[in-house]
Amino acid sequence: MANEPRLVEVRRNVLKRNDVVARALRENFREAGVTVVSLVSSPGSGKTAFLEKTLTLLQPRYRVAALVGDLATENDALRLARSGAKVSQITTGTLCHLEAEMVRGAVETWNLRELDFLFLENVGNLVCPSSYDLGEELRLVLLSVTEGEDKPLKYPTIFNSADVAVITKTDLAAAVEFDWPAAAANIQRVRPGMRVIQVSAKTGEGMDQWLAFLEALRTPAQTRA
Ligand code: MG
Ligand code: ZN
Repeated sequence: MANEPRLVEVRRNVLKRNDVVARALRENFREAGVTVVSLVSSPGSGKTAFLEKTLTLLQPRYRVAALVGDLATENDALRLARSGAKVSQITTGTLCHLEAEMVRGAVETWNLRELDFLFLENVGNLVCPSSYDLGEELRLVLLSVTEGEDKPLKYPTIFNSADVAVITKTDLAAAVEFDWPAAAANIQRVRPGMRVIQVSAKTGEGMDQWLAFLEALRTPAQTRA
């Protein structure tokens, strides 16, 4: 107990430092005209499949790249590289989330002006990523139909830190008897007005709406001829 205030303070300082780095990153991204989107979810929600599909569909018309955070393996990065996009792995080791400093280090040698979209796939975890700003413009929280409708109620903080909820694996919804009205109600209860996008990376259902939403994020000033 006696140590608690000190630990709380250490933690607060770590977060403060992260915010400083994240703010500088966001500034760099804006100046370079790159739209940065991060993805958070539990392990197994289909982040990588969704991202692979997104990269593949964007690739013909945009210059896209992805940074993938993973505890140990490079499997996701290798899979994403199949899309033809520039992909780099951030192996976090024992750390269960990405921090702004890791993103900064990964893009340090990149010419960000050569990119239109940059995606940041966070480590599969619905808890601590909520506390770490990565300098992204848009944060997606993914929820697969196989996880159940009550995820937003169990992890309200991450849903609050995100801008858009993406419901994935919709091709399996009927099989698992996914309760769409309950899912929508739970999301709205935690984050009123939150935008919800439904997709199946497998069938491609909903990907056109997602891409239209993504493309609309790029302001005329950011769109190069
Ligand atoms: Mg993954
Ligand atoms: Zn963590």
